[in-house]
Parts: sequence; C-alpha cells; structure tokens
Amino acid sequence: MRKIQMVDLVGQYADIREEVQSAFQNILENASFINGPEVAAFQQDLEAYLGVKHVIPCANGTDALQIAMMGLGLEPGDEVITADFTFAATVEVIGLLRLTPVLVDVDPVTFNIDPDQVEKAITPKTKAIVPVHLFGQCADMERLLDIAERHNLFVIEDNAQAIGANYRFSDGTLKKAGTLGHVGATSFFPSKNLGAYGDGGAIFTDNDELAHTLRGIVNHGMYRRYYHDVIGVNSRLDSLQAAVLRAKLPHLDRYCDRRREAARAYNKAFEGHPLLSVPVTVRDCPGICDACDCHVFHQYTLKVGGGKRDALAEKLAAAGIPFGIYYPVPLHRQKAYTDPRFRESHYPVTNALCEEVISLPMHTELDAEQIEYITRTILDFLDS
Ligand SMILES: *Cc1c(COP(=O)(O)O)cnc(C)c1O
Repeated sequence: MRKIQMVDLVGQYADIREEVQSAFQNILENASFINGPEVAAFQQDLEAYLGVKHVIPCANGTDALQIAMMGLGLEPGDEVITADFTFAATVEVIGLLRLTPVLVDVDPVTFNIDPDQVEKAITPKTKAIVPVHLFGQCADMERLLDIAERHNLFVIEDNAQAIGANYRFSDGTLKKAGTLGHVGATSFFPSKNLGAYGDGGAIFTDNDELAHTLRGIVNHGMYRRYYHDVIGVNSRLDSLQAAVLRAKLPHLDRYCDRRREAARAYNKAFEGHPLLSVPVTVRDCPGICDACDCHVFHQYTLKVGGGKRDALAEKLAAAGIPFGIYYPVPLHRQKAYTDPRFRESHYPVTNALCEEVISLPMHTELDAEQIEYITRTILDFLDS
C-alpha cells in the first residue's frame, strides 16, 4: 500500500507537468513575475468557470477576506457576525480592521453558521455577515441572504474551503459557492481544493463599482499610477502561481468528483455505526442533487461519540494514518479573541464539535486499498 498522506498533490502534478513546466519556462524567460499575462488569463478563466463578473486575484485567502471588508467600506466599531467554528483567519481580519467580531454558534449537522443565531445577534451596529462554507459545503445561503436583505447587511462569503461547490436556491437557480453573496473570498493555499504551489487568493463579485474599488485596494490604493486615492495593501498573485492555477482549473470538477468518491467510500463503511456521524450533504433538491455538486469535501469530518475521539486519534497515529482535528479550540476561547460578551452558554454546538470531530485523509489520490485500511482500522478500534 502507498503511504497515506493527509493531502497528496503528487498525482495532480503528473497530470499538469508539461503545461506547468512550459508556462514556468516562459515566465522565467520573459521575467514577467508580477502581473504577467498568466495572471490576467487565469482571472478570465476563473470568471468563466464561476460565472461571476469579476475575479480580483490577490496574495492569499486571508488578504482576500480583509480586502473584501475594506472594499465594502466597513468602519471601526461596525459589527461583523461570523461562525465560532472556523479557521482563525476569518475572525482575524475582522479584528485587524478594528471591526467588532460577533461569534455565533453553528449548525450541528452541517457545522456551518446557524441562521437563527445570526438573526439573534443582529444589533443596530451590525453591518455584515461572514458565512464560511466549512469543509466544502455551502452555508444556508438562502436564509442568510434573506436575513441580510431584511437588515440591510453585506454578505461576505469565506469560500476558502468550497471552491467548485454549487448551491441551489429553492427557485432552482444554481450558482457557484463564492458568488452567492455581495462578495466572496477564496484561498489557493496548496492544500485547498484548487491549490497553487505557494500562496494565492482571490475575491469575487458581480458588482462593477466594488470590483473597481477592490482592484485599487490590492495595489496600494492606486487607481492611476502613483496617485493613491485610498489606503490600500500590497497583495498580488504572482505569475508562477497563476500558471499553476490556470493549468489546474480545467481539472477542478474532476478533483471534486474524486473527493466525493472517497467520501462515498468512507460513508459506506461508517454509515449506521452507533459511535460515528458521517458528514451530511444537504440535499435541498431531491432527485436532482445526487448529480449536482453540493459538497466538495475539502475535509471529510466525522463526529466520534462516546468520548472516544482522542483515543481514536492515538490509534490512527499508531497505525500510520494521518488525521486532522479541525478545529480543537472554539474561536471564542482563543486568547486573541476572548470578549466578555462571548458566554460559554452561547456555543453548545461548537463546544461539542471541538471535542468530537476528526478529519480523515482527503485528496484526489486516495485509492480503494488506502480507504479500506483507514476504515478497517477505525471500525476495528471502535468495535473492539
Ligand atoms: C485557508 C483558509 C483561510 C485563509 O487562507 P490563506 O490563503 O491561508 O490565507 C481563510 N478561511 C478559511 C476558512 C480557510 O480554510
């Protein structure tokens, strides 16, 4: 059996080797490292794939979130509601901009921000909601967009984990994750579903005016060379990364299919086990949704009951099976983000998830033998 990796990008490289090498060669010979033609070409390819008017490439996913918030004109003291159960980058940028993060609990089934909790947390100072499409599945965007419209709030999607996922509205409209709210942000960190060979990120919007503002912010607030109209940042996607992403984009749907296939194999082995809850794919379009791409499984995350999560983790480590605990500590309990307004009693779901979740190896190169070994190790341990 091949050694099991948490993330394995070697096979993907084999498929795009020639394309990447010739693009790199070209960039090296033209020395077009920054803002080269590869960046513009990738931007256009991604706009077409997502069906969105504007993609603004930038240096990483954290910057993408920050720049999106800057572009919307959010100001210190404005309250921004986001999930307690996410990677810290989401709340970090809110704090960095001196906005006020308001953390709310998540849904126990999807692990995504709970619209009821969002609605409860709204005050006259609330300006935006940041749903995170956690582990590759969209948050309940239909309800969140409705709440946002009623309260005149912006919706900023943290789409770092769900690029390629679809979301179906109840009227049948199908849209790509990241293009559902006012603005979306994504990451091309190597281990994300569409990963570069270094850092990268992008912001998405259909709003022409906002896109113009964002393009200036990523480039030192310049709209005309050496005229700085606003305080911006320096956040660029470099040409080498754009070339990798451009080579990978045509394969993204296949990558997502491979992840779903692995998830189905895991589900099949674990379904019905009294101590395990497998990830639930929300199907709000019965009969159609089997064929649509709701969940792109950035992570395959189990809930382990009976207080056995940590013992299982030890067992996996001993068996040479990598795993991840995403996330072990709720954001409201992180030293940097504690706030007397965040009470333990507000976060029963996140608190429980942090004790129960474990993410298994998930990537495009998992084979049947590896999945069989992983699932057998887990079931043997739980049933022994
Ligand atoms: C990865 C990630 C980010 C940050 O992306 P970087 O490119 O690493 O800055 C933000 N939010 C979530 C949910 C992520 O998973």
